[in-house]
Amino acid sequence: MFQPDLLRGQTILITGGGTGLGRSMGLRFAELGAKVFLAARREEPLRQTAEDIRARGGTAAWGSCDVRDFAAVEKVVEQAERELGGLTGLVNNAAGNFVCPTERLTPGGFNAVVSIVLHGTFHCSLAVGRRWIEGKRPGTILNIVTTYAWTGSGFVVPSVCAKAGVLGMTRSLAVEWGRYRIRANAIAPGPFPTEGAWSRLIPSPDFEKAFQRRIPAGRFGRHEELANLAVFLVSPQSEYVTGDCVTIDGGQWLRQGGQFSDLLDVPPQLWDELAKTRRAKT
Ligand code: NAP
Repeated sequence: MFQPDLLRGQTILITGGGTGLGRSMGLRFAELGAKVFLAARREEPLRQTAEDIRARGGTAAWGSCDVRDFAAVEKVVEQAERELGGLTGLVNNAAGNFVCPTERLTPGGFNAVVSIVLHGTFHCSLAVGRRWIEGKRPGTILNIVTTYAWTGSGFVVPSVCAKAGVLGMTRSLAVEWGRYRIRANAIAPGPFPTEGAWSRLIPSPDFEKAFQRRIPAGRFGRHEELANLAVFLVSPQSEYVTGDCVTIDGGQWLRQGGQFSDLLDVPPQLWDELAKTRRAKT
């Protein structure tokens, strides 16, 4: 579907780019010709992903940075532009999350998640966006949110608040910065197996099975599916798309919303019997 040089000429910074979905997006962007800069706190996953990209013929560099710290973000953006050239894209993918009944949360726990997801996304967008505006350069921001940004969800309230804020930021910046030829979009993934998400959010194998059963597509997402959607949204192919959020979840969130959606569990024989009873009555 994509030409091998679709992203040639692009330089894209990915936060949380050493692991999970960030790593998968980095590998795919580089495969399609983009230069990729990876930023997160731990050096080892960043170094490894950058090496893997280079081993496949791509261009990558990395810098250690905590997105909660605006000065550190500015430094890493400067490093990215020095080492790889002017950025054309920013993917705000870094996140923290954990499941916890809200009454057991501490203000510190709430703050930890919100400052990575909401403040971190703001810090990176501000640092990169200002450079684009001052340099009269176009750019694309892609924020990784999640479907409970609009449905809400129990047990992950700090993440809900932060992701809802990021979605609002996406739409607001699309309007405010459109005149500078800066686009802002979001992707809302459903469940995609990653070590980070699974270790923090899936408490048991039974929960995992039940979780999967509730997805109309009948399976979890594949990393290449999300990476390809991200490619489209950072590529010139989507130049007129801004302020939107594309869901990629096998139908999961819509199923949760329908009052009768759990009838997906009704076996065909029971449907046959129900139809017979209905006919008998009418
Ligand atoms: P992940 O591998 O744990 O990714 C999170 C990344 O964020 C890590 O690389 C982590 O690296 C980085 N990070 C965390 N705190 C940071 C900080 N303060 N400063 C800089 N970087 C920081 O998990 P993932 O599943 O791939 O998640 C990626 C994104 O997808 C997240 O935005 C998540 O909310 C979203 N998402 C995932 C799923 C899913 O099912 N996997 C579903 C919906 C949404 P360091 O720890 O080294 O800093």
